[in-house]
Amino acid sequence: MPWSERRRRTNHTVVVAILLLVLLASAPSAEEKQLSIYGPRVSYSLPVSEYNGQDYVALLEVLEPFGNVSAGGDGNGWKLHFNNVEAEFQQGGNLSKIAGQKFGLPSPFVLENNRGLVPLHALPAILALMLATKAEYHEAARRLFLGGAATRFTTDLREGGLSVKFSAPVDPLISTEPGKLKMTFTRDPVVSNAYILRLENPLISSVAFSENNGRAELAVQGKVPLLAQFAAGGKTIDIVPAPSQAQSAPPAAAPETTPVAVAVPPPPTLQSLTAKPPFVVMLDAGHGGDDRGALLSETLEEKGVTLAFARRLRSELQSHGISAVMSRDADVTVPVEQRAAMADAARVAVFVSLHAASQGRGVRVYTAMINSATNMPGSFVPWDTAQAGHVLTRRALADIVKAEFGKHEIPSTELSAPLKPLNNVAAAAIAIEVAPSGADVGSVNAGVYQQRIAAAIAEAIVVSRSRVEAER
Ligand SMILES: [Zn+2]
Repeated sequence: MPWSERRRRTNHTVVVAILLLVLLASAPSAEEKQLSIYGPRVSYSLPVSEYNGQDYVALLEVLEPFGNVSAGGDGNGWKLHFNNVEAEFQQGGNLSKIAGQKFGLPSPFVLENNRGLVPLHALPAILALMLATKAEYHEAARRLFLGGAATRFTTDLREGGLSVKFSAPVDPLISTEPGKLKMTFTRDPVVSNAYILRLENPLISSVAFSENNGRAELAVQGKVPLLAQFAAGGKTIDIVPAPSQAQSAPPAAAPETTPVAVAVPPPPTLQSLTAKPPFVVMLDAGHGGDDRGALLSETLEEKGVTLAFARRLRSELQSHGISAVMSRDADVTVPVEQRAAMADAARVAVFVSLHAASQGRGVRVYTAMINSATNMPGSFVPWDTAQAGHVLTRRALADIVKAEFGKHEIPSTELSAPLKPLNNVAAAAIAIEVAPSGADVGSVNAGVYQQRIAAAIAEAIVVSRSRVEAER
């Protein structure tokens, strides 16, 4: 993560520019086909490919977030191992074997550059077998719900606006256009039995639910400009008139407003209205797969250093009794957006992104800079500030981390930068960039040096735990 180096900055600008292009390319206008998968611990989206007019997805990529997966082929055969389950496919064949059972595919298996693709139609059944769980598929919208994952909502019209209450915290992208406020859910398994709710109200005329291309959307039609406010830890979104309009807007006579032509959504599922999730740290080894990161020396790639360091930090945290999960635990490509989505889906308490650099000395501690303008095209207003609610904890965490580095005699500097995925993570999030301990660049990959840094970070997380917990 070489933000602080002139030589590398160019590289990073290019990476950021490419990421922006990728993000823009996946924006609704481009209409690249997406599948979203929602599990109890993780939710993510994947691209859908077309072969002979049929939709396909890469099976290894689908399974990766759920556990250890590996695959390989010889000739036309392709075998995949997921945890203790095995699946076998044949290039161009309809017959496969999954978890010891014969399984017929609705269209032939495709093997492309050693990547096994299965028909999307069959994926819910394949996952139900491989993960031994319930799979519910909203085919038209390409949204797959595993293990009963579902977030429901109710609406409550009150004086001055509308409250939308969800059965679990949500993190939609909020956008506005004249007369309309839209909440787009890509990571949240928001479902509804109702599609449109018409209201007799001076401020809001209707609320419509729809789902399409791996996303769900709630569109609020307003008679005045509206804005959204998050409350109850992300479980409530209040739709209220935008401030400039608040005075001129006619007063909302809540008691008299009654919905007409109503299809009322079912009440929230109570089991998901649980207390605070457990204290878990997500370790995000920067780069990976196609993105090798900085070339630290002729033989040392950043992606390998960050992974080794993340594993070391994981065992260090575990030895302090703290649960740690990884955004990647192999040399694989994981888009930054997906890393944030994984952290949010797992509702982690702390997110630590790890990078390495060849320049400078010691360690740099980054926190997200929220107020930097993120310009999006068109009239959309970005709501790109998941970190905004975590200002105190991430600052405190960064300070404590820096203090621990001091105790361990590791030189460190603290910086803020508008970093992905830090800005999008709804947890106390920091990034740590490890620079060499001395003149030897190879020291960034040295076990003893990494161990000292990992020990300091783990102790800092132990020290800041109660503070982080208090603000969740
Ligand atoms: Zn990096």
